[in-house]
Amino acid sequence: MPNTPMPNKDALQHADLDWDENGQPQSRQYGDVYFSRLSGQEETRHVFLAQNHLAERFSALLPGQRLAIGETGFGTGLNFLCAWQLFEEQAPAGARLHFISVEKHPLTPQDMARALALWPTLSPFAKPLLEQYSAVHPGFQHFILGHGRVTLTLLIGDVLDSLPQLDARIDAWFLDGFSPAKNPQMWQPELFRQLARLSSQGATLGTFTSAGFVRRGLIEAGFSMQRVAGFGHKREILQGCFDGIQNTSYKPWYARPEHKQAERHAIVIGAGLAGCSTAFSLARRGWRVTLIERHEEIAQEASGNPQGVLYLKLSAHGTALSRLVVSGFGYTRRLLHNLRRGEDWQDCGVLQLGFDAKESARQQELARHFPASLLQLIDQETAERRCGMRLGSGGLFFPEAGWVHPPALCQWLAGYPGIEQLMHHQALQLQRLDGEWQVLEHGAIIAQAPLVVLAGAADCAHFSQTDWLPLKRIRGQITRLPANAASSELQCVVCAEGYVAPGRSGEHTLGASFNFQRHDSEPSQEEHASNLAMLEEISGDLHRRLTPSLDGLEGRASLRCTSPDYMPLVGPLANAEAFAHVYANLARNARHTPEHPCPWHQGLYINTAHGSRGLISAPLSGELLAAWIDDEPLPLPRDIAEACHPNRYLLRSLIRRTT
Ligand code: SAM
Repeated sequence: MPNTPMPNKDALQHADLDWDENGQPQSRQYGDVYFSRLSGQEETRHVFLAQNHLAERFSALLPGQRLAIGETGFGTGLNFLCAWQLFEEQAPAGARLHFISVEKHPLTPQDMARALALWPTLSPFAKPLLEQYSAVHPGFQHFILGHGRVTLTLLIGDVLDSLPQLDARIDAWFLDGFSPAKNPQMWQPELFRQLARLSSQGATLGTFTSAGFVRRGLIEAGFSMQRVAGFGHKREILQGCFDGIQNTSYKPWYARPEHKQAERHAIVIGAGLAGCSTAFSLARRGWRVTLIERHEEIAQEASGNPQGVLYLKLSAHGTALSRLVVSGFGYTRRLLHNLRRGEDWQDCGVLQLGFDAKESARQQELARHFPASLLQLIDQETAERRCGMRLGSGGLFFPEAGWVHPPALCQWLAGYPGIEQLMHHQALQLQRLDGEWQVLEHGAIIAQAPLVVLAGAADCAHFSQTDWLPLKRIRGQITRLPANAASSELQCVVCAEGYVAPGRSGEHTLGASFNFQRHDSEPSQEEHASNLAMLEEISGDLHRRLTPSLDGLEGRASLRCTSPDYMPLVGPLANAEAFAHVYANLARNARHTPEHPCPWHQGLYINTAHGSRGLISAPLSGELLAAWIDDEPLPLPRDIAEACHPNRYLLRSLIRRTT
């Protein structure tokens, strides 16, 4: 799969604003206003809400239904907040709003707060948005608001790069984005084609411009357009409706499985980060969820460490994994606002040391490709000041990252209303009967539902339906070191080959070993010793302050699960044997694209193989999975979703037979 180049730093600039005498923002980049000087709120209501008939459409939604709005130019978020406010006023309980907006120059959190202070009546909506408005970096950035009823997906980047990556059906468009005269690069035929590609049948559109070429371009793309009276000094604006033909099609093995369950009841097997995240994402969409866990409590295996690190392993080449990491980090970081800062998580920053020449060169390249709000290259002296310890080098500093107590995040996710926890039960067998999956333990049915999600790390491959899954186990052990006055001066997480975190509840977590030989969870002295050696490499100073001795060290070992390409497995599962049969021609000709629908295991899904970065990739994967299941806009670019799809392995093994 080709790598999409990551925008370099020059391509990602925050909005550069002037503030006029009334405190209203104006863009220096475009020399245009963000909204009408007369009344931004009234303009939004007229141009975007009324032309899309949103009041009527929100009130006509049924519980469980949703409406998806797409916007070009998120700007200050005023349009979004007005739409959300109207949704709260009009939509029935159980209905949901999905707002997807593209933004090339996101406002800084400070500018956003200043702009939104202009609208006191919107503050009940602006406040939660501002609380979560952090880690807004290039790519797809996903937010959950309104107690789970409202989803906001920001596509940070140029609209002409971003929309082609989106897989969604949009019901109403807000075509904003500065006037065509001031921003001609945006108003291109390719934009109109993308709007048509993404529109649901009958999708509506409102825009403040009445420019003739915009009207003609939209008509050519498949919209019927009409001029209507404008707001304020604008005589006319445009309103439209999509009645063209949709022609998006995906390869059958990556197409969305069609299934309409009468009953929205799902079983999730495994209550670590992947399972709890999946349960949360389904429950917030109105699913009843039974969460099965073999231990007596949730988060007892790889998600049970006292401290996990928000460690971003990035590539300057825009790989799918690197883009998944940036999006996943943002989403997890926003979820953490629901936990207790200081006890359950800390945004103390993460320092990745440039510990040798190769790593240092890699870091320099990353610093050229990512914005300083995400990562900064710092020299040894600055690094020592930041972390409070003597070090052997400088490195990359991630100011918004830090550590998390993963069990607290799991508890919060699994505590969402509608999730029933079935602890101390081990799912050993799956069978499908009359449109339902039955989960069996020693021959007895312990749960049954139309839909099952496997989220039990490498044990996901233990069922007859899934024994082909290429899952690997890698044991990891952490060491717990009692903090003392001298070690408590550690200010941020520091990583080299391993990591050490500032104290939580009087202990530092030091980790983690990578052991491919052992598959048990008994802590070993050798791995404690290798962890201490890693600490010495990270900072001899901190090692001396902690004076650890090998005697009586405490820790825990658990098994990470990874896949051969290190991407997680997230999506619907196919019947491997039938797949090989149906697509046998691919083995003879890899270019052959058969029409035959994929032989899915109806209602069987997976979310696993998050390796040692489950904190970053598992929560967003829960959203991705729920979007596959509920036929919703995907929270990640289509190519990343395909790079996570379990069918990639069935496909590869077929195609490999030709070579
Ligand atoms: N809807 C916004 C609000 O509610 O505040 C106002 C949008 S403002 C008029 C236009 C926005 O479009 C700006 O934030 C600008 O950065 C963004 N924009 C302009 N050209 C763009 C492009 N090519 N791709 C993505 N965003 C763009």
